[in-house]
Amino acid sequence: MTEFTELADGVFVLVYPYLRVNCTLITGETGALLVDTLSTEAQARELAEAVLRVTAKPLGIVNTHFHFDHCFGNATLAGPATPIWGHRECVRELREHGRQWQRAWEQELLADDEHVARELGRVTLRAPDSPVEREELIDIGGRQVSLAWHGRGHTAGDLVVRVDDVLVAGDLVEEGAPPGFADAYPLDWPETLRALARTVGPDTVVVPGHGEPVDLEFLTMAHDELAALDWLIREAHRDGGDVAKVAAASSLARWGEAGLREAEHAVRRGYAQLDAATPNTIG
Ligand SMILES: [Zn+2]
Repeated sequence: MTEFTELADGVFVLVYPYLRVNCTLITGETGALLVDTLSTEAQARELAEAVLRVTAKPLGIVNTHFHFDHCFGNATLAGPATPIWGHRECVRELREHGRQWQRAWEQELLADDEHVARELGRVTLRAPDSPVEREELIDIGGRQVSLAWHGRGHTAGDLVVRVDDVLVAGDLVEEGAPPGFADAYPLDWPETLRALARTVGPDTVVVPGHGEPVDLEFLTMAHDELAALDWLIREAHRDGGDVAKVAAASSLARWGEAGLREAEHAVRRGYAQLDAATPNTIG
């Protein structure tokens, strides 16, 4: 059975087996906050049962970003009056392009796991209704939870959630898998992570989007790797470097095929960012 375990006083984490997604539950005196809601209705039902075994207080939901494994359970977990917070860009993606993303992800996952892919395709989407721009403080009775955006990174709109000495970083931080670049801003991500690291102390527990909790040292290493990739992309762009070759030269190659795939996304998206920033001298 999938259960929450207590990470800090009144802060619980559930690691869901599929993709090792972390869901975090923060309990206060008058309410509770659930960060991320998994991929399908069946997964979200399991999550809802696990939440109820910890608390029956009124629930609020936070989505760290718009990717299916973090928000497709919204409609199952939220009642009609449940507030759902997400960054403005996360809200926009789900409202304006949610169905397109859903179809694309269903197709993408078919080869890996047909059952999950089909279930994902049947999900009723529910976008967050409470958009966050920079920072928002939520009071759940006796404790304040901060939702903050530190800049573009894994997506344009990644929210991090902080309560006491726990920081829920979403996919801005990945443990046990390469960072995901399919919708990322590889030239902004290092600075965003640096800004995030500045808010983290030696005793802070950082819950990544996937995998085991990490610490400041891990965050610093993750930043350095992203910064090295940023420079690699900038240099290669100047020399007109071939995407696959640049990807293979990056440190993400140590993750094998999955790392190379993410590195190629990173190089392509980095090149696109640099092309957009270069003045057009032809016309
Ligand atoms: Zn993601």
